[in-house]
Amino acid sequence: RFITFEGIDGSGKSTQARRLGDALPNAILTREPGGSTGAEEIRRLLVEGEPDRWSAETELLLFTAARRDHLEKTIRPALERGITVISDRFADSTRVYQGATRGDLRSKVDALHSLMIEREPDLTILIDMDPKTALQRGLARSSGEDRFEDMGLEFQQALRTGFLDLAKQDPARWRVIDGNRSIEDVWRSVQAAVL
Ligand code: C5P
Repeated sequence: RFITFEGIDGSGKSTQARRLGDALPNAILTREPGGSTGAEEIRRLLVEGEPDRWSAETELLLFTAARRDHLEKTIRPALERGITVISDRFADSTRVYQGATRGDLRSKVDALHSLMIEREPDLTILIDMDPKTALQRGLARSSGEDRFEDMGLEFQQALRTGFLDLAKQDPARWRVIDGNRSIEDVWRSVQAAVL
């Protein structure tokens, strides 16, 4: 099974993904951007440097290249061996981040996805939360080295709406979980969604 976690920065999705990886037998935890040797190298190109280092289009190509490598080297081989793959972010992050918020790139996002990726998760868990709380959490653990950080409340609000819209379009794949609660309470909902 291929399970992904999505959500805005500071939503706590990485904590929940880790917990699920520890709890499920025969599962690997991976992440995007990254998740394979090549994709982790591309991640560095994406997150380091000045905010205007890449155009929106070039950024989309880099995310797609990283995802293709992640799929070839990590996700597909594991799924073929019957291993459950849990990914902290996947294509839905690109639909929302690059598609909805950096110009109207959504049709290019979709075209590249069907050309180069195709694969959708079997289950996607959206940790939905109030951007104000998420922003505080995100900034609290900010390293200052991620050029995507500190993009502001309005941006976070647009992302939240983007994720909720995707979830509404495909309710069979998505589970929306209220992230404005304790880690334990969110974890109980994650378990209920997966098991
Ligand atoms: O989830 P994580 O914090 O590892 O993501 C790294 C950064 O890349 C985040 O700041 C996130 O907002 C950004 N990102 C993005 N587009 C994606 C995936 C992540 O802008 N498709």
